[in-house]
Amino acid sequence: MTAPQKPAPAEAHKPANFLRGIIERDLEQGRLAQRRFAGSPGDAAHHASAPFDAAAIRTRFPPEPNGYLHIGHAKSICLNFGLARDYGGVCHLRFDDTNPEKEEQEYVDAIVEAVSWLGFDWHEPNPADPAHPRSHLYYASAYFDFMYRAAEALVEAGLAYVDEQTPEEMRARRGDFNTPGTDSPFRGRTPAEHLARLREMRDGRLPDGAAVLRAKIDMASPNINLRDPALYRIKRATHHNTGDRWCIYPMYTFAHPLEDALEGITHSICTLEFEDQRPFYDWLLEHLCDLGLLGRPRPHQYEFGRLNLTYVVTSKRKLRQLVEEGHVDGWDDPRMPTLAGLRERGYTPESIRLFCDRIGVAKDYSWIDYATLDQALRDDLEGRAPRAMAVIDPLKLKLVDWAEAFGNAAHHEPCQAPAHPQQPELGLRHFTLGPEVWIERDDFAELPPKGFFRFFPPRVDAAGVAQPGNRVRLKYGVIVECTGFEKDAEGRVSAVLARVVPDTKSGTPGADAVKVKGTITWVGAHEAVPADIQLFDRLFTEPQPDAGGRDFLTVLNPLSRQRVAGWVEPGLAAASPGARWQFERHGYFVAKNPPAQTDSSGRVAFGRIAGLKDTWAK
Ligand code: ATP
Ligand code: MG
Repeated sequence: MTAPQKPAPAEAHKPANFLRGIIERDLEQGRLAQRRFAGSPGDAAHHASAPFDAAAIRTRFPPEPNGYLHIGHAKSICLNFGLARDYGGVCHLRFDDTNPEKEEQEYVDAIVEAVSWLGFDWHEPNPADPAHPRSHLYYASAYFDFMYRAAEALVEAGLAYVDEQTPEEMRARRGDFNTPGTDSPFRGRTPAEHLARLREMRDGRLPDGAAVLRAKIDMASPNINLRDPALYRIKRATHHNTGDRWCIYPMYTFAHPLEDALEGITHSICTLEFEDQRPFYDWLLEHLCDLGLLGRPRPHQYEFGRLNLTYVVTSKRKLRQLVEEGHVDGWDDPRMPTLAGLRERGYTPESIRLFCDRIGVAKDYSWIDYATLDQALRDDLEGRAPRAMAVIDPLKLKLVDWAEAFGNAAHHEPCQAPAHPQQPELGLRHFTLGPEVWIERDDFAELPPKGFFRFFPPRVDAAGVAQPGNRVRLKYGVIVECTGFEKDAEGRVSAVLARVVPDTKSGTPGADAVKVKGTITWVGAHEAVPADIQLFDRLFTEPQPDAGGRDFLTVLNPLSRQRVAGWVEPGLAAASPGARWQFERHGYFVAKNPPAQTDSSGRVAFGRIAGLKDTWAK
């Protein structure tokens, strides 16, 4: 059964933020005239002379394919693709695969899938050939030829040099925040000498690590990123796209601005850690424009604060460690903050986009409470997830006078409930009440605490007066009165006993004549479907698992996944995996693939996405 779900509510108008301000200003001032490329951005020979298109913004999301995307990436995806969509532009999906060592096809595939699942697209409509929209999925490694040409041009212009100091010597000459650096002894060679040396690097005539190409800027700059940053290193490694063609690879800080420029990116939006790199970004692109390798207008970099979410880690390295050391079942474990994990958990793409809208974009660091994500899920599903009753921690309720009340011990009393209380068009659910019913264990108390309105047995009060057991409504059914309970050999309550209060069936004229303070959910034991229910909780017990250098593995939550045998109402017998429900009083659940059947019990499987309200604080 696929639950009848309403479409998601239309997303609210996007809030203003400083990046929108910048883009609106740029559009107004007509600064975004763009180059149109005949071929792919990699064949950039024509770049500087490419014709101009109408003004439009062009952003990019540039993941390194060395892990799965996480909720932090979702912020960047929603921002970059969202801006492009809202201002009639395009967002490129670019694999930043300039590092040959850690990248894998598995990650490329997972990233493509995650971005699509979030609801974003890197295709641009093609008016000339509407059936073939233009794809803007790129690989940085496709630009290696251009990057190398740019490196040679910088060397020839006296703007870059080959440094053959040892790494220790380089470090010693770099200085620190208080001390200016000093020039490398190799810095003074002629451009022709450096060019020859660079070609030897490229041709594999120097061993790994023997030399690096560096920009020639200023070893005394107060910005350490401008103290002759490295542009190329020697590294014999097989690259997933270019194989063994190269034994030198560009550094990220050199490659990234070039990738942006080649693709005609107008607004290159990154996280705040890169703020100090912006002067180098500008230095590099200005020089390459002056040298005629790139055309103007060139891209500009803008920074925003990265997302930090409590109770999770958002570092690919740490997430990989969780996977590789077996602390979780995989990158898509439902407790992982990866997009694959959140999807497996049951979060909707709408809820993640809503979350990203709500947290906003600003130029400072912030920690966002995990409860914000759960609230977005609730706000997305509240209006559209159908309802169902489920019992998670079952206790048997026996209606001892069933045969007298209904004239027949085998009688099953039909009951009905709306699929969704505010969506009558989703119709009704039907189930029946019988002599034995599953209820939640905590809906009974042998000795009720103050204010407890659910089942408790008859007792003698402080004044010595006998009091009847409590009356409770079985939701959508009848009112019953507790008459006692049974215990097993270990002294644990094994059943609650009750009698039916006549003429109290929900929906009948007399139903309201008897007032009760407690209404509980239940499923008829004769028709309940056995369910394998996973209850997920935070993966870590501390809001900032890696705060202050703590080993995040020491604060893993041992109760992050619990598995219980529960019962659900009969309509969920054929729940199709991926369908979501609100289990009344419990929260939002998603149907999973059926558990491996070891018997013929016909169990169905569900996982809890989030509770009905935030209970973590307790
Ligand atoms: P990690 O530090 O986990 O390895 P990363 O930033 O190195 O992540 P990339 O693949 O380079 O991973 O990230 C792609 C893009 O996602 C970058 O532009 C980066 O700015 C953005 N991004 C990564 N983490 C976050 C975050 N927590 N909040 C917002 N944006 C992020
Ligand atoms: Mg990165």
